[in-house]
Amino acid sequence: MKIVSIEAIPFYIPFDPELSLKFAYRISNAAEHVFVRIRTDDGITGIAEAPARPQIYGETQQSVVAAIETQFAPSLLGSDPFDLEKIHAMMDRLAHNLTAKASIDIAIHDILGKALHLPLFKFLGSGSDRPIPLSWMVGIKQKDEMVKECERFLSMGIKAFKLKIGLNPKEDVENFKAIRKGLGEEVLLYVDGNQAYPPKVAMKVIMELEPYGLAWVEEPCPVWDDKGRVELARSISVPILGDESCFTPRDVLRQLELGAVGMVLIKVARTGFYQTRKIIHLCQERNIPCMIGSQGDSSIGAAASAHVASSFKNILFPAECSYHLRMKGELLKTPLSLSKGTLEVPRAPGLGIEVEESKLAEFRQSLGV
Ligand code: MG
Repeated sequence: MKIVSIEAIPFYIPFDPELSLKFAYRISNAAEHVFVRIRTDDGITGIAEAPARPQIYGETQQSVVAAIETQFAPSLLGSDPFDLEKIHAMMDRLAHNLTAKASIDIAIHDILGKALHLPLFKFLGSGSDRPIPLSWMVGIKQKDEMVKECERFLSMGIKAFKLKIGLNPKEDVENFKAIRKGLGEEVLLYVDGNQAYPPKVAMKVIMELEPYGLAWVEEPCPVWDDKGRVELARSISVPILGDESCFTPRDVLRQLELGAVGMVLIKVARTGFYQTRKIIHLCQERNIPCMIGSQGDSSIGAAASAHVASSFKNILFPAECSYHLRMKGELLKTPLSLSKGTLEVPRAPGLGIEVEESKLAEFRQSLGV
């Protein structure tokens, strides 16, 4: 089997305006991602999406398309999709570009699963396809609006919420308390600071939230501040969840050596399946739980993440495979199945999903470079 074509198609899907996501350094109102499709000589097609995040990885829609079309495709055409080590070595001739590389890796795994007639959760080593309990991510807004949004998704059965913090310490605490009061003791609440606070400010906020059932805290401080983050980790009773400090397996190794994180967030959109497995196995050896996050994925990325979520013993639920619910548009022929706040892992071979061509045409975006 050989790779015969690689496509990178930018797309744009707006969010439900009520569900825009404000966090420490930007507001997100739409998915501006790249759809990736790889075809083989025996007629198998693999798909993926690349959600560019300029402020985080320095990748844009344009750079993802350019990396795939001008850097990866020329060396990958003609390769055997099973030759993962060689494929990654070829892609690593271009430094960084994590999301572009991960999208190629995901599409290739979709091909491998289809070639072996296995859904990816089985390919990854799990016999289980139990439904994945979901978490809902709430942006920074007026307190009442945040409570209302949580109640909307609680009524769908979602019982875990990630609250963005980082613009105003006092309001962060008030928002958290209001949501705890409105939703009750049963829901799981955690916060994501997106690196906004110096360690001493973060410590104050976290200590005020701990009595109200804060489960863990994601990247409260700048990730370059090793000393401050380690001191903070030692001073609080909840674990720090590593996100922006944990892009690659080497990053994760470093964070574990430092003792700065007690949990690691997996974003399949930046590590694909190949690097994701390395990170999960590293964490397993240190008895560190991993959690499945979202890089603002549409349902294509959510499906890829769901396969990982069901495949490893140290994945802590909930998983953040719910981001696509804020989008006013769908690229799949059959949308992912959600029930009582859980996501069903697709059971067909590969990712187990199919793109609807008319929808891809509708949301396709011209970048006008
Ligand atoms: Mg985060």
